Order: sequence, then C-alpha cells, then structure tokens
Amino acid sequence: MTFRASHLLGIEHLAPDEITAVLDLADTYVALNRSDAKHSDALAGLTQINMFFESSTRTQASFELAGKRLGADVMSMQMQASSIRKGETLIDTALTLNAMRPDLLVVRHPHSGAVDLLAQKVNCAVLNAGDGRHEHPTQALLDALTIRRAKGRLHRLTVAICGDIAHSRVARSNILLLGKMEARIRLVGPPTLMPAGIADWGVEVTDDMAKGLAGADVVMMLRLQRERMDGAFIPSEREYYHRFGLDARKLAHAAPDAIVMHPGPMNRGVEIDGTLADDINRSVIQEQVEMGVAVRMAAMDLLARNLQAARAA
Ligand code: ASP
Repeated sequence: MTFRASHLLGIEHLAPDEITAVLDLADTYVALNRSDAKHSDALAGLTQINMFFESSTRTQASFELAGKRLGADVMSMQMQASSIRKGETLIDTALTLNAMRPDLLVVRHPHSGAVDLLAQKVNCAVLNAGDGRHEHPTQALLDALTIRRAKGRLHRLTVAICGDIAHSRVARSNILLLGKMEARIRLVGPPTLMPAGIADWGVEVTDDMAKGLAGADVVMMLRLQRERMDGAFIPSEREYYHRFGLDARKLAHAAPDAIVMHPGPMNRGVEIDGTLADDINRSVIQEQVEMGVAVRMAAMDLLARNLQAARAA
C-alpha cells in the first residue's frame, strides 16, 4: 500500500506518493459528499475522539463531519472545560482517553510538538489538527487538493504565500508539501513577519507584492495571527492593507487565471479585500472548506486501514 504512515503529525514525515494517495482517495470522497447519501462504512465500529485545546470552528467541524460520514463513533471533547483546568497534564489526559480505546485521536494544541509527544503515549492513530506554529497537515493537504482540482497538477506551479509567515503553521505545512511536489514557492510579506532562518528554506522571499505575485498561478493569503504576536510587528492595519492586503489591483500582477486562497478565519480589509474573497471567479476559499472534509475522510480512512493491519499482524 502506498500510504505507510501510522500517524498524521506533519507533512514533513510524508513522502510524495503518500501525499498523492491521500489526494486521490479524497477525490472519491468529494464525489461521495456531493451525492445525496453522504455515507460510507469505512470507519464503522471505530471510535474517533477530537481533543481541541485551542479554539477552532472549521477544522473541528470538518473532522467531526468527516468521521460521521465514514460511520465512526465521534466524540468531541471541550478541552478548555476539562480536567486540564484542574491541573492534569496533557499526557495524563491522553492516557485516560487512551484507556477508553479510541482508534483515532484528532488533536489541536497551542504548543509546537505537543501532538508528537502525545502520539508516543497512545496506541491509536493520531492526527495533528494544528500544533502551535509548527504544522497543520490536513490544511496543507486540503489546499493541495483544491489547487490540483483547479489547475490539474501541483508540480511546476508558482505559488505565492503572502502575509504573516512567521506565526503560521499553515504556511509551514504548505511550504513542505509544495516543495515535495516540486512547485515554485514565493513568500511575500514584511521582513518582521518572516521566520528566522528563512534563507535556508529553498524558497524565494520578497517584501514586494508586485514582484511576489508576478505571474503566480496561486495566491495564498494568510491571517495576521495577532494572538501569536507579543509585540508590534506591523505599523498599523491600514498601512499593512495598503502594502500587503490582496485587492484586485495587486492580483492583476498574477497570472490571469490565478486562484485566490485563504485558510480562514479571514480578517477582511486587513489581509484581503472582502469583495475579492467573495468573487467566485477568482476565490476558491469555499472550495477549500469543501475539500477539507474530503481530505480528512481520506486521511482517517488510510490511517485506520494501517492501524487495523498493524493490530492484525
Ligand atoms: N485556521 C488556521 C489555523 O488554525 C489558520 C489561522 O488560524 O489563521 O492555523
């Protein structure tokens, strides 16, 4: 089987053929999700627990729906209201849940590396739904599926990733995935929002939107992640929008058929013009949400098959 992983902790650990395997299976789930009977028994009898230690709207809903459409028993824990409040450590919580014999654990945590640590303590498949500024693998996979369906391929595309790169796990996972699939990546943003060591990432970097977007096939905007900023990274939101906010004028530098993406939640009028975000001829933001459910179904299906094979061995 092409997909060999036992957890989905990051794109870093996936080989290109494993990424393709997820996207191919996800395509079949897009078709299922567009039919009237949106149901399969791929995860029947299995238990999926969602543990979100950081707030989430679309990712948590997407994982929950994905599990339900595949017939799993799905439980979503409200971690803010849980024993963590009473001082229980992440590991103790994980061990307690592990004793309830889940098959799939979906975890979002504010600390980079927390999900990897947890995966070492449990005997089920763990999916990272975002850990600090480290990785958000299902976001990169759903973005890749959206791009592949719009452009017919991933390799040799020019992708401009714009805005707050420094605080973004979405950017990190996308850079890793697109790099593995041989796309050309340009990072565009103010130097204060570029991560340290960016020169070694093998990507082009610029603080000029006109240059960064020139001829790009895909323009991916990122949210200004104020909750991860502990100082003044930008002079003002007005100034930021003027230089880095995507509007029709800046988009005109990209290829005429360039698509516009945003992982959500969006700050309209800060990193993107609201009218452009809603323009169905350019923006694929709603498709990204749709692809999210299908990609999560595919990832959980493949992980569950590997888990069951390992248990039977
Ligand atoms: N929803 C994405 C994440 O959880 C992007 C964002 O929050 O800006 O990382």
